[in-house]
Amino acid sequence: MRPDALLFHDDFKVAPYWWDAAPPETAREPLPERVDLAIVGGGYCGLSAAAEAARQGASAAVLDAAEIGAGGSTRSGGMVSSGQKLALTNAIRGVSPERLSRLMHESMASFEYLQHIIADEALDADLQITGRFFGAFTQGHFEHLRKQGELLHEKTGVTVHVITRADQRALIGSDYYYGGILVDEYGGLHTAKYHRALRQLARRRGASLHSHAAVQRIERHRAGFLVHTARGRIDAKQVLIATNGYTGPLLPFLSRRVLPVASYQIATESLPAGLMAALNPGRRMISDSKRNLFYTRPSPDGTRMIFGSRPAIREVSEREAARILYAKMIELWPALRDVRITHAWKGYVAMTGDRLAHIGVHDGIYHALGCNGNGVALMSYLGQRVARHLLGVDAEPGAFGEGAFPVSAAGIASRWVVPVGTALYQLDDLWDGRARAALS
Ligand SMILES: Cc1cc2nc3c(=O)[nH]c(=O)nc-3n(C[C@H](O)[C@H](O)[C@H](O)COP(=O)(O)OP(=O)(O)OC[C@H]3O[C@@H](n4cnc5c(N)ncnc54)[C@H](O)[C@@H]3O)c2cc1C
Repeated sequence: MRPDALLFHDDFKVAPYWWDAAPPETAREPLPERVDLAIVGGGYCGLSAAAEAARQGASAAVLDAAEIGAGGSTRSGGMVSSGQKLALTNAIRGVSPERLSRLMHESMASFEYLQHIIADEALDADLQITGRFFGAFTQGHFEHLRKQGELLHEKTGVTVHVITRADQRALIGSDYYYGGILVDEYGGLHTAKYHRALRQLARRRGASLHSHAAVQRIERHRAGFLVHTARGRIDAKQVLIATNGYTGPLLPFLSRRVLPVASYQIATESLPAGLMAALNPGRRMISDSKRNLFYTRPSPDGTRMIFGSRPAIREVSEREAARILYAKMIELWPALRDVRITHAWKGYVAMTGDRLAHIGVHDGIYHALGCNGNGVALMSYLGQRVARHLLGVDAEPGAFGEGAFPVSAAGIASRWVVPVGTALYQLDDLWDGRARAALS
């Protein structure tokens, strides 16, 4: 075990690397008395909904329990997906081929939406479309990934390259995987700069943002709602819940359907350009086929590695997580053994029973949440999509608004489900790891 004095940089902090450039914001402006739309949650989803509602001429207020930008959106890896997770995970199990096509189509639409809004509104977000490598942890996973890549290409038209183990080193500077697939239509952005730019966009269009305004109760009132917050109440014609992995007991309908799960990341100190170029010359997003997967990417300026995984079956401190994630990172890239860690942080993703995000309405209150760890493009897109739907601009909510939102057994019994689930995942990976060892 590497001593802490060598592992942690003198400037080490428990905070997202992204916040150095664009920290979350305190916004204590008085709450408006009444609005057309009150939005609970100030992440990408809530801000995108507010920006779209304001563009449609509606008054919108975003209410967040914490500082604006302290939720999952600025804690993520910033990897921008064109819907691969639907095809490459088991999210599509039990979905009809027609609905799968519509879901994949909308996932692609979310990728395009993100690129357009960043370009059209000149958002400062450091978006780079560099592709993503999905590494195969075992030979069997390689075959599975190859087939999933074919499905992905067929359903979305994205460009998928099969990468053999022999070719992989040139791509990721490591022999850790049994090859994998590379998808060109994938990118990365600066999570906190993008969030700051969305805040600016929402305000520019006329929406108001309010931090430290935890919504405690929503009550029916005349034709709308009274939204009771920690800073007073608002009379709202409509309400949207956009709380994703931070969904609490506010509405039992949602807390029974969404399971918050912690995910952890570290950032390394600034590394020599030659080392970064050797390990990831194309500045690609990288993840793998394990149940407790590794996901890693360079910082947008190409100077540091950002590395994430689930470190343990229980929640741990960020410092403890940093030690474990460092050890995992060294499995992938032994050349990083002497680097120091500058940042460690965690955030909550929202898992759902069917592994799909949902937009919809229950008892007159709208929701858009449940990204299953894949929300940079998708939750931005679903935020504007649900805003258009609830304002009557779009009659249909789209594929993520179809079908029932199933109660999640995990959501109900969340205290023990996450540790047990993670332990089972780790056993699975251990088993696969033994198979790797036997073959090598
Ligand atoms: C560590 C980590 C890594 C990730 N990596 C990626 C990635 O690489 N690519 C990708 O696509 N996705 C990734 N994700 C997922 C992605 O970040 C999220 O899906 C997305 O940002 C969710 O945005 P959101 O607006 O729905 O929710 P959030 O940004 O989480 O915002 C929800 C907000 O709701 C607020 N809230 C909750 N309850 C209340 C209440 N009662 N009253 C007022 N406010 C309330 C919270 O304070 C919070 O700010 C990652 C997530 C994490 C945590």
